[in-house]
Amino acid sequence: TGKEQIAIIGSGLIGQSWAMIFAGGGYRVTIYDILPEQVSKALETVKSNLTKYETQGCLRGSLSAQQQIGLISGSSSLEQCLQAASYVQECVPELVDLKRKVFQQIDPFITEHMVVATSSSCIGVSQFAGDLKNRHRTLVAHPVNPPYFIPLVEIVPGPWTLPEVTAKTRTLLEAVGQSPVTLSREVPGFALNRIQYSIINECWNMYKDGLLSAKDIDKVMVDGLGPRYAFIGPLETMHLNADGNTVNLVDYCQRYAQGAYNVTSTFIPPPILYDVPTAEDILKEVQETIPLEKITERRVWRDERLAALAALKKQL
Ligand code: NAD
Repeated sequence: TGKEQIAIIGSGLIGQSWAMIFAGGGYRVTIYDILPEQVSKALETVKSNLTKYETQGCLRGSLSAQQQIGLISGSSSLEQCLQAASYVQECVPELVDLKRKVFQQIDPFITEHMVVATSSSCIGVSQFAGDLKNRHRTLVAHPVNPPYFIPLVEIVPGPWTLPEVTAKTRTLLEAVGQSPVTLSREVPGFALNRIQYSIINECWNMYKDGLLSAKDIDKVMVDGLGPRYAFIGPLETMHLNADGNTVNLVDYCQRYAQGAYNVTSTFIPPPILYDVPTAEDILKEVQETIPLEKITERRVWRDERLAALAALKKQL
C-alpha cells in the first residue's frame, strides 16, 4: 500500500495488539524488540490471532487475515525498524528509566514528519523525554486492554508537544478504527484511571462500611450502570435523563444538583489507600466464583465477551 509505515518498539501484549490494529487499517508495520526471539514469537501470535479473528468474524478492517499478515514484518535492528516509519508506537515495559533509554535511542532517527508515541499507562513524556532533541514530536497514546476490542486511546501531549503532532496522532488512530480522546495536558492517571479510581474508591468505601457484598457491588456496575455506559457517557446521561422530567443538562442540574450534593456530602474524601485486610476480605468473596485456577479461563472469557460487544456495537 502507499500508506505511511508504522514502527512498533517492544513486541509484548500491547505491541502485538497495535501491530494488528494498524495492519487492520491497511498500514505496513515493522515490529522491533530487544529480544529477537520475542519478535518471532510475536509474529506467530499475531498470525494465529488474525486467522482466529477472521474465522470468528471479528477481524478488523476490509483486508483478509492473509493480507494483513503480509503487512506485518519483524526486525532485529531498531534503526531498520524506524527507517521509512512516520509513526512510532513504543511498547516497552512501564519503567521510567527504560522509557528514557529507548527514547534516547530513537531520538537520532526522528524526522520532521515523524510522531513517536508511548503506550505508557501512567508515565507522561514530561518524565523522560525532556532532554531529547526531538521532544516536540513525542506524546502518550495510551490504549486500553485488550486494545483490539476496546477502542479508546488517551492522547496526552507533553508540555512541548507540537499541536500538529497531537492532531496527526488523533487522525491516524481514528483512521485505523480506534476512538482517541485528547487531553490538553498531562495529569496523573490521564482520564480513564482518574474516573476508574473514583469508582473503585466508592466501591471500596461501601464494602468497608458493610453496605453491600462485593458481588452485589460489582452487580451495580454490570447490571446497572455498565449497560448504559457502553453506549452513552455520564454527561450525556444527565442530558437525556431517564424520566423525561427534564429538558436538558442544565435543567437536570437545576433539579438534581442539590440531591447529588447531599449524597456526595456523605462520601469519604479521597485519597483512599486500598488496604490489605479489606482486599483479603474481598478476595475471599470473589474467589467463591473465580478461584485461582479459573482466573486464566475467566480472562479468556472476558476478552471473548468484549469482542462480542465490539461486534454488536458495530451492528447497532
Ligand atoms: P510486555 O512486558 O508484554 O512487553 C514488553 C516488551 O518490550 C517485551 O517483549 C520486551 O522484550 C520488550 N523490551 C524490553 N526492553 C526493550 C528495549 N529496550 N527495546 C525494545 N524492546 C524492549 O508489556 P506490555 O503489557 O505490552 O506493556 C507495554 C507498555 O504498554 C507499558 O508501558 C504498559 O504500561 C502499556 N500498557 C499496558 C497495558 C496492559 O494491559 N498490558 C494496557 C495499556 C498500556
